[in-house]
This record gives sequence, structure tokens and C-alpha cells, in this order.
Amino acid sequence: MAHQWRGVIREYIDRLPFEASDPIVTLGEGGTPLLEAPALAKLLDVGNVHLKFEGMNPTGSFKDRGMTTAVSKAKARGAQAVIAASTGNTSASAAAYAVKAGMTSVVLVPAGKISWGKLSQAVAHKAQILQVKGNFDDCLRLARELSDNYPVFLVNSVNPDRLQGQKTAAFEVVDVLGQAPDLHAMPLGNAGNISAYHLGYREDLELGRIKKLPRLFGIQAEGSAPFTKGGPVAKPETIATAIRIGNPASWDLAQAAKTDTNGGFGAVSDKEILWMHRFLSQETGVFVEPSSATGAAGLYKLSKQGELKGLDQVVITVTGHGLKDPDWALKDDRGKKIKPRKVAAAAVAVAGLLGLEKNR
Ligand SMILES: *Cc1c(COP(=O)(O)O)cnc(C)c1O
Repeated sequence: MAHQWRGVIREYIDRLPFEASDPIVTLGEGGTPLLEAPALAKLLDVGNVHLKFEGMNPTGSFKDRGMTTAVSKAKARGAQAVIAASTGNTSASAAAYAVKAGMTSVVLVPAGKISWGKLSQAVAHKAQILQVKGNFDDCLRLARELSDNYPVFLVNSVNPDRLQGQKTAAFEVVDVLGQAPDLHAMPLGNAGNISAYHLGYREDLELGRIKKLPRLFGIQAEGSAPFTKGGPVAKPETIATAIRIGNPASWDLAQAAKTDTNGGFGAVSDKEILWMHRFLSQETGVFVEPSSATGAAGLYKLSKQGELKGLDQVVITVTGHGLKDPDWALKDDRGKKIKPRKVAAAAVAVAGLLGLEKNR
């Protein structure tokens, strides 16, 4: 019988704080494609680029890697309900894993700033969804306070069980490349992801699976860029809702990731994000939500400044699937809605519109 990927806990159990006899709540997350992207290598003027396509996780974002570990631990501790603050993807993931665990879920999302795709997932998995009159940072403050004082278990990335699961993405990159890349970039929001990659690569270094750490780069949206501003942003704004976070919870861990790997933080405009969103769709075949294009957009900016010269292996994590927030694909670069043309149900009419000449 063919082997089926068993989810990150079972695949990496000897490298996670789990025993085979522990309750394991999984939807088969992880094992995502690491895709060669020659068009991007050419654009960035580096040797090789691989995209770690995290949109291929069961709920369509990398959050599932940390949700399997967080919800499994919650189950072992007897939790009946989980709570999460979310810009969208954490709520989709928490709701799905809660169903699998037989628990209820509560999600706090910022009013009006969550995409329909993500909201529909939380609704489908019967989460109790509350739209908070505030931003993500307010939602996280509330979720922490509620989990401290009520019988609900917090599954945000401030829960260390989340990072344990998310570090497996670094293991998978090393499994495929047989080494660490020179540089690894990703979008930067609450900073759980960059902290988890740091943890994973560090462990690989200590085990001798890699000889050096990759330089880790976290890229924010300009309107929501506390790491390049040097402190919290009170009113974060960007179309990249997954990284619309002004006061990142994993601030210190992200600073450590940067210092320890000789990495960096960057920020790009919404326009640059949307340009790269389209480039990825049209030139690499990988459809992502706009936030997920931020890592590549940041590297493009660095490459134009000559900062990537001589790099051989570059990995870019694209964090979430394009179907989560498809509206952006249906607008042209001036923001006008794209509608397929209408045509009569006749081959000659279709060929005419396509400018095709009949075979002779
Ligand atoms: C959560 C998320 C991010 C940001 O990751 P952090 O761990 O908060 O830095 C980026 N992109 C997508 C699609 C996400 O869901």
C-alpha cells in the first residue's frame, strides 16, 4: 500500500514533545510542496528559488502545522473549548481542528477586516465567531484575558505548542534540499512563523543536519511595519490582512531570529505586494493570498538594491492559498473588475474573439 503522509506530529514525533500514546489531532497537515521557481530566480537574479507552498495545508495556510500541536496538547490537558484571536487563517484552522478534536471553538476577529474565504471556513466548522470592534491586537489581548480567567484554551502562536508544530516547515525544507538555503524569506505579522523557522533550523544545526543557518528575512507591509519602525504601530493598515498587526506578540523571538542568522526585516507597499501577487500567479503557477506574496515582494525590492548578489539557494514561504481572498485576482492593476467576455455558443464566434485562424 502506498504511504500516506501522517501529519507533522507523527512524521516528526522524535523531534516534538509528543509520545506515540498521546492524543494526536491531525488533518494531515505539512508535507507541502517545495517548488522550484525559475521565473522568480531570474527576476531576483539569484541561482535558485524554491517556494514553500503552505497554501497546500488542509485549511489552506501554514497555521495548521501549529494547530495540530496546540489542539493535541489542549486535548491531553482536558480542554473542552479553544479560543483564538485571528486575522482569519488562525480562526479557520482552529475551527477545523476543534471539530476534529470534538471541542468547540471561539474566534475573535477584527470587525470588517477578514476575507470572506476565511470567515466562511470558520462558519463551516461551526466556530462561535465574534467580530470585535477593534483590530487584531485588541482581539489577542481579549483572547489572552479570557483564557486566563475562563475555561477556554488559547491556541494563538503565543502558545509555545504552536511554534513546536510550525518549526517542522524548516525540517521539510532541509529534507528536500539536503542543506539549508542561503536565505529564507517570509511575510512577517505576529512573528510566530519566523520564530518557528528559526527554532527548526537551529535544531537542525545542532543535530548536524545542516552546516549553517539560513539568513532569515521577515517582510511586513509598509502601513503595518513595527519591526522596521522600531516599535508598535497604533493603527496598522494594509490590504494584506493576514499581516495587519501593529504589536507583534513574538517581538523578542523575531529579533533573535534576525540577529542569530544575520537576517533582516523589510517592508513593502500594498502596490508592491499586489504586483508580486500577480507575478506569482502568472509566472510561477502558484496562487496565493496577497499577504503571502509579501516575502517575495520584499526580496524583489532588496534585489533591485543589489542586496542579493551572489546568492545561490533562496527559499520563500508563501503562507496561504489564493482562494482564501480571491477578490484581488479579479481586479486589474488599476483596480478595475475583470469579467470574462461573453460569447455566443458557436465555435466560429469563439475563434473570432480569440483571434484564431482556421486550420488549413
Ligand atoms: C498568519 C499569517 C501570516 C503571518 O505570520 P506570523 O506568524 O503572524 O508572522 C502571513 N501570511 C498568512 C497567510 C498568514 O495566515
